[in-house]
Amino acid sequence: MTLRQTQRVIAGTDASDGDGVKMKRLFPVQDIVQVDPFLLFDEFGSDDPGAYIGGFPDHPHRGFETVTYMLAGRMRHFDSRGNSGLLTAGGAQWMTAGRGLIHSEMPEQSDGLMRGFQIWINLPAAEKMTPPRYQDYDPAEIPMVSLRDGITLKIVAGVAADTTGPVNGVSRQPLLVDASIPAGITWRQPVDQSATVLAHVFEGSAEIGGKALGTTQMAVMGPGDAVEVKAGGDGARVLLLAAQPIGEPVVRYGPFVMNTRAEIEQAFADYQAGRLA
Ligand code: FE
Repeated sequence: MTLRQTQRVIAGTDASDGDGVKMKRLFPVQDIVQVDPFLLFDEFGSDDPGAYIGGFPDHPHRGFETVTYMLAGRMRHFDSRGNSGLLTAGGAQWMTAGRGLIHSEMPEQSDGLMRGFQIWINLPAAEKMTPPRYQDYDPAEIPMVSLRDGITLKIVAGVAADTTGPVNGVSRQPLLVDASIPAGITWRQPVDQSATVLAHVFEGSAEIGGKALGTTQMAVMGPGDAVEVKAGGDGARVLLLAAQPIGEPVVRYGPFVMNTRAEIEQAFADYQAGRLA
């Protein structure tokens, strides 16, 4: 077994997206365009409705997947084909945008805490134009496993502690685990040797791959087949992500992520002609 070391620590920066939703954006930022196949990682969390009430009104996507994992609050999803879903605290949506759709993601609450993550994962050229697909999971569908020493895992995708998360049939063989680790306790998780691995601390602090991380900091991990997280003095909650890299050219413009400039222009043309609706 080779433990992965932390190659780089990314700190969240203040950002705003949609209709004025405030968030911490880990990437893309100036010097981190992507961490192949991950294209974007946002953490949002506020009990001030002014920071989220505008939501994400109608917008298109093409060429990748969007993952939303909610910690608190309620978010309603609608798309141009009449699909609708309600995301609640502890629930997740894995949306394969594929060739495209137009959707909105709007808070279904006017006050209280709204908290969670949005992650974008790229698709390879061969899968960018697949039909859109949704996987919506209620909190009860996401297995929770209690380990020794008070460690608790919620497994959204992939396998941890001999338990498989509900997300299935998606491109990059992802692992997405929400781990709660008590103070001073170490959690070790196997990961695929060829996967890109990110570990994001969203509560407390932790030592990950030889580096000390505070809240809202992310470790980009080097090579190896396991990750070790040791929680700091107040414990830690960590989102561990792994997925197979793609290694293709990435041309992105806002909500479209393709391989070439011509494909981006085609996406705009299709959007303007109503072919994404
Ligand atoms: Fe969206």
